Amino acid sequence: MSQEEFVVVIDAGHGGRDPGANIGLGDGQLIAEKDITLSMARALGDALRVRNINHVFTREDDRYVGLQERVALAKKLGGDVLVSLHVNTAPRKTASGLSIYTLSKEASDNLAADFARQENDALGMKKGDAEAISQRMQKKITRISDQLATGMIMSVAGHGEILERPLRKANFAVLRAYNMPAVLVELGFLSHPGDLDLLFDPAWRAKTSLALADAILVWQEKVINK
Ligand SMILES: [Zn+2]
Repeated sequence: MSQEEFVVVIDAGHGGRDPGANIGLGDGQLIAEKDITLSMARALGDALRVRNINHVFTREDDRYVGLQERVALAKKLGGDVLVSLHVNTAPRKTASGLSIYTLSKEASDNLAADFARQENDALGMKKGDAEAISQRMQKKITRISDQLATGMIMSVAGHGEILERPLRKANFAVLRAYNMPAVLVELGFLSHPGDLDLLFDPAWRAKTSLALADAILVWQEKVINK
């Protein structure tokens, strides 16, 4: 696949009537996941443009887009890989840092399982809804998705970020539904003040986006075009 044909689908999680995870700041102000994922989607779009990588968005403003609509859009626009952007909250206040999730029936840990359950609930998914494609196809997609996730973690780590257990797995409907290689980037935790500062920092978003774009470029050359 040539560079001209290769298209990244940038998926800003949530939107519109679905705020995703959110926290109150105590003064009536609410920080919602849907706004952070949209800012990061724009930053990732900018970074991919810098690296000459084609990309499309599942949403570009604050609107609700259902999973089926996102999938249909991604296919119509010729997407080859999905990067879904999310943030998380955790009961354990010390949980922090960026992690990347790929699809697995078995969650890598309890936090991953809880996170997948919340995300699937937000999409209104019922158990078993998105399990249609063949196991062999799913295995292949999962393997190359794992390679992308590993590359992304190395790339982000190379930019100096501290990551806590950065590679995780869980049964995300959003990763299964697209029938293409897919990773879910969990950018950080709303429940962690240090993470919040980074998520609201345009310089951090730009730097992290560039690291993700670099990893996509290497992966496209070494895995997709090999
Ligand atoms: Zn989310």
